[in-house]
Amino acid sequence: MDKHFYQRLAVSGVQAIKPYQPGKAVSELERELGIKTIIKLASNENSFGPSPLVLDVIRETLGEISRYPDGNGYVLKTVIAEKYGIGVDQVTLGNGSNDILELIARTFLSAGRKAVYSQHGFAVYPLVVQATGALGVAVRAADGRNGQRYGHDLDNMANHVDEACAVVFIANPNNPTGTYCERGALTRFIESVSKKVIIVVDEAYFEYVEKDDYPDTLKLLDDHPNLVITRTLSKAYGLAGLRVGYAISRPEVADLLNRIRQPFNVNSLALCAAEVALSDQGHIDRSKERNKQGLNQLGIGLVDMGIDYIPSVANFLCIDCKRESMPVYQGLLQRGVIVRPVENYELPMHLRVTVGTAEENEKFLAAFQAVLGS
Ligand SMILES: *Cc1c(COP(=O)(O)O)cnc(C)c1O
Repeated sequence: MDKHFYQRLAVSGVQAIKPYQPGKAVSELERELGIKTIIKLASNENSFGPSPLVLDVIRETLGEISRYPDGNGYVLKTVIAEKYGIGVDQVTLGNGSNDILELIARTFLSAGRKAVYSQHGFAVYPLVVQATGALGVAVRAADGRNGQRYGHDLDNMANHVDEACAVVFIANPNNPTGTYCERGALTRFIESVSKKVIIVVDEAYFEYVEKDDYPDTLKLLDDHPNLVITRTLSKAYGLAGLRVGYAISRPEVADLLNRIRQPFNVNSLALCAAEVALSDQGHIDRSKERNKQGLNQLGIGLVDMGIDYIPSVANFLCIDCKRESMPVYQGLLQRGVIVRPVENYELPMHLRVTVGTAEENEKFLAAFQAVLGS
């Protein structure tokens, strides 16, 4: 039996999938280098961790883990609904927002249908699309005239929406570029597209954005029933390891997503942690402030070295190494610094660096300078 035997048995969409490459684990690099002082700025988590209130509630809930969680996530949905002034029936909970992205794909896509997203867009979109057998179309990114360079070219994306297109994915802000779509452009796009097309606005980093022209998508839901907004507790809330995210949509769409959701897709510790985390706005405010300082620190350090980066509204920077970035990435690993190469995003000269603590940022900048000079 040759090694591709089972490959050929898989459904054709799955055969075409390139596996997602997660950031390298700290423990793995520790084993390789035999050192304990590794820093990881590779997966856009909140370097300042979760709200301390979260740790308390998890300790209090540990005794309940022999029981199934609340399959409806009633309390968490209520917290989300009250926080954003929407109905409980507009919320869908996910095992991370990646789970939601997959629910959307499985609900609205199949062979013969099409999904549209942007070049340099989040890597999970092609994964969830291809698994359904649908066609994924990556539309060339903006060049600076039609939206922020490297960001979404929404006019061009609208041109690719045809009868076969069932879903559009927009990451706002986008990972790995840190770019964002402003209110006018996004609203025009949504208004120009047929209501038969589900428009997913993935707002994994929206808590960090401080731009006046960043769209308030919740306001668009009344006029646009085809809109699905996805958010997560993995980034600003510092709960990436617990896996919890949510979608906000019209109840009709939430009802569909909930039909195929695994009954207990969010575990009990994640549910209670998210309830408390969402109520601690102070922690988000402090995290945002520190993130702003961190972005400044990295920006100044890079400018001092004569290095360009894509302006970012999120908690990471996409840096232009002006040379193949893979050897730079390897050099940083040797110095105990894990960042993210983004050649799989068609950005072979860039590296994505998550904003760390002041100390971590300092360490990254020193290592980066050393690697570039070596
Ligand atoms: C990190 C990220 C997510 C969130 O993933 P989770 O499954 O919620 O951890 C979603 N979209 C984008 C663009 C991201 O960068």
